[in-house]
Formats: sequence, C-alpha cells, structure tokens
Amino acid sequence: MKIEHIRHRLRALGAKPAHEARLLRAWLQGTVLDGGPRADATRLPKGVLEALPGLAQELDALARLRSSHPGEDGSIRLLLGLGDGQAVESVLLPRDGLCVSTQVGCAVGCVFCMTGRDGLLRQLGSAEIVAQVALARRQRRVHKVVFMGMGEPAHNLDNVVDAIELLGTEGAIPHKNLVFSTVGDTRVFERLPQMQVRPALALSLHSTRAERRAWLLPRAPRIDPAELVERGEAYARATGYPIQYQWTLIEGVNDSEDELEGIVRLLAGKYAVMNMIPFNRVDGLDFRRPSWERASGIARWLHQHRILTKLRRSAGQDVDAGCGQLRARCLIIPQS
Ligand code: SF4
Repeated sequence: MKIEHIRHRLRALGAKPAHEARLLRAWLQGTVLDGGPRADATRLPKGVLEALPGLAQELDALARLRSSHPGEDGSIRLLLGLGDGQAVESVLLPRDGLCVSTQVGCAVGCVFCMTGRDGLLRQLGSAEIVAQVALARRQRRVHKVVFMGMGEPAHNLDNVVDAIELLGTEGAIPHKNLVFSTVGDTRVFERLPQMQVRPALALSLHSTRAERRAWLLPRAPRIDPAELVERGEAYARATGYPIQYQWTLIEGVNDSEDELEGIVRLLAGKYAVMNMIPFNRVDGLDFRRPSWERASGIARWLHQHRILTKLRRSAGQDVDAGCGQLRARCLIIPQS
C-alpha cells in the first residue's frame, strides 16, 4: 500500500486536508488511530470516524512485530511480518534512531551481504516503509530514520521519496535526521535535490578502484568512484551537510595501502565523513574481519591524512541480522 492510497481513502470518506494531516500524524506517532480525544473526534467527518477502526486494522497489518532481539549495545532488531507473509527487519538504534528496510531482498548482490543472496523479492510500498516507524514508535522514541535496512533505496525510489516526504513533515523528523543510503545511482542525484524534504546522504563506497568495487557490488550502477564522489560533493554543498561514505573493511580485500591512498585522493578536502566498519562475520561467507588494531591503525592513518574517519566498534556481533551487515551498517551513522 502507498501513502497516496491512504490519502485517497480518507478524502473519499470526506476528510479535509487538515483531518488527513491529523490522522497521518497520529499514525506516525504510533498512537491509537481512534479519532483522538472526544473534542477532536467530533470534528472529524462522520464517514471518517465510522471507518477509522477498519482503517486502523489495515494500517496495523502493514507491518506486524514477529519477534524482537535486543543487542548488548541498546539496539533492538525487529523482525516484521508484512501483509503478504513476507518479512523484513528494522533496527531500533541507540539514541532514538531507527534503521528501516525498503525492499524484500535486494538486487545489488554485494558479495559481503546475505540480503542480496536471493535477489529482489519485492518492493515495499511507501506505507509499508513508514509503517516501520509507526510500529517502532510504539516501543520507544524515534527521532532519526536511516534507510539502510534490507534493500537498495535507489531501486525503490518513488516509494522511498514519498516516505521521506511524509516522515519529514507529518512524521516530525528533521530532514538531516533522514538518511538516504545508496550504492550510487544517477537518478538519486537528480531526484533528491528537488525534494521538499532533502535527506542526508550516505554513499556505499567500499573501494576506490572501479573494478574492485564492481566485484564487491556486482549489480550496482557502473559509476566510477571518482564521479560518485563528485556527485556526492555537489549534493553535500547544495544541502549544507556532509556525505557519509560507507566502507565495510574486509581483511585482504579493501584494507591495502593502495585503497587508503585512493581514499585520500578522492576525499581530501571534500565535505565528507568516512564511516569504516570492520566486516561482520556471517556464516556462509569466507571474508575475514580485520583485527581491531589493524582497523584502528587504518583510521589513524586516514586522520593523519586529513580524512575525517569514524571507526565503529561493530556491535551486531551478538545478534545475527538477516542482512549480515545490517545492524553494523545502521550503526555507523552517528545518532545525534
Ligand atoms: Fe543490497 Fe545493501 Fe546488502 Fe548490498 S549491502 S546487497 S545494497 S542490502
């Protein structure tokens, strides 16, 4: 279901724009969709009031909590059942963050990620994306949403854009606290600057070498890393907040000197933060996680070369996520 379908339903029942906004706000805050206190309820059209219990049930059915899995760091992985029986994950993050999924499965097929193993199963509708926020807010406060769960947001652009616009308005989440994460797709750089609510941007880099990056992210668009950074920089300057580059650090794959020099070459002087997260071990994948000493040495070296680098001690080891890197990737975004 799309957000637009909900709006149409409400309008058909006689809701005015103010009623529509009020009901969407209530839903996104995770409160009971019953028309509100008596005084407010009397101001809703009769048709809307009568339809509310049924509508509330339908919205609840968009994403239902199947199980929750707390981690030691205060994050909680939520396994959610969708209306058609499919499942996705959201992750409640420390300091009021939430990581949401945008697709069931993923077509990019990154070699270090389990989500891409079966390819794309289906897109999430915009209402299913924001339903993850409504559900999470019943558990605790959510003031930041990162689109880094299952799926590649650029491959479901219309629905993700609609979700961001709603969360940034009726959902009361500041636009800088909405983080669009992508492997890089030219459509993103055309679309995001035109949005009413312009989100922060996280770009998955993982390698500065085009051929190595193509191997790591087999079905990502063939955009040269240098061009990706140039486009990111233009968006960062236009919006006034830095690009967050993501780098899953894998021993013997992208932790070599040539890669580090490549990072300096690409990012020196850029309005950017390099988020490095050591690879999270996953059954079935042969990649190795570098030692913490090695990872800290890399972060220190980059700092010395004027690259603002954040190394995350990757939580996510204690709870397996469906996407092996999901919690780790979500956690690399600073939670303000
Ligand atoms: Fe898709 Fe992200 Fe996994 Fe890559 S890391 S396969 S883009 S979900």
